[in-house]
Amino acid sequence: MRLKTLLKSAALVFISVILCSCNAQTAVNEIYFDEKETLSSESEIIGESGLYVIFLDVGQADSIFVSCGGENMLIDGGNTADGDFVCSFLKSKGVDNLDYVISTHAHEDHVGGLCDVVKTVSVEKAIISPKKHDSVCYNDFINSMASRGISYEYASHGTSLSLGEASVEIIGPISENPQSINSSSIVARLSYKGVSFLFTGDCTSEEEKEILNAGYNVKSTVLKSGHHGSDFSSSYIFLREVMPEYAVISVGENNSYGHPGDNCLSRYRDVGATVYRTDKMGTISAVVNESGELSFSADESLRSPDKSSKKAYENEDADIKNASDEQEPTKNINTSTSYIGNKNSKIYHLPTCSYLPKEKNRVYFSSKKEASQSGYNACSYCLGE
Ligand SMILES: [Zn+2]
Ligand SMILES: [Zn+2]
Repeated sequence: MRLKTLLKSAALVFISVILCSCNAQTAVNEIYFDEKETLSSESEIIGESGLYVIFLDVGQADSIFVSCGGENMLIDGGNTADGDFVCSFLKSKGVDNLDYVISTHAHEDHVGGLCDVVKTVSVEKAIISPKKHDSVCYNDFINSMASRGISYEYASHGTSLSLGEASVEIIGPISENPQSINSSSIVARLSYKGVSFLFTGDCTSEEEKEILNAGYNVKSTVLKSGHHGSDFSSSYIFLREVMPEYAVISVGENNSYGHPGDNCLSRYRDVGATVYRTDKMGTISAVVNESGELSFSADESLRSPDKSSKKAYENEDADIKNASDEQEPTKNINTSTSYIGNKNSKIYHLPTCSYLPKEKNRVYFSSKKEASQSGYNACSYCLGE
């Protein structure tokens, strides 16, 4: 019960972020803090009135708890190793039933921790990305739901659901992108009392474009930054329509992908959004009261103890391959090439894998043996190892 102790001490050091006139030029560390305690301690149960959106600090991963009118939803569950943390958090809030679980897409840093969640609390309904994936953690998640008798459906854009007095519209994915799991992320827009939140998973600029082309209203007060603040998400064209006042980036400290990207941060500055980051602030909570007033608080000490998340999804940087307007040209692959390694992660892939590294980070092998003799490990996605 180390976490309980952690949560107790957390209650003592809650910091609250005063949100008022932070403008485009405000750097994250210039945001005002005070000692006001606005988040619950371990024993407090989330109230029946108002909307609570809690961006859990699960490192280089996503997990967002949403509660309104006594109804609860969890969007993603962090990495597999974050499962305990997410479950303990739910327990600390007195949550033993989730009306909805949304699995934005099949990558481990989103679906991994959901396995423990569906085994621990009751779940009324799960909504998952239509893009399936043959990986251990994804299959575990699907099998865990099946063994608990939890019904799930593949997300279909244009459908709506209600959570207390809040309404949630699924606006993506528009199409099942064969090349990219990230581009098939569920994107959902929640609105409550005139305040709106846009949850994007690891949505890429390509998917952003598809959502705009489909004519969906994306305008939102708070944007969960797509793909941990990657430069290849949160495109200008998208941000100009979302026009977020706040952007929350769920990202691990010193992660190996360089998230959030400088270009992404500068786009947020340009649109005048105030940026909050879990790596700098810990767990970030947004509360909207019944009058539609939005306030944020952050708990620096409420962080998943999982330190493995930095390396948990080593192929994620390769997703830039799918960012349509910023991708690098792909060199013709020599026909004798059987495998492509990533110099940074030391992972090798089939040439058909969706998660090939950038051209400059590639190394080519003609056999598995050659790859492993060079110290490379097989990609668990395309080679199932
Ligand atoms: Zn992803
Ligand atoms: Zn991710």
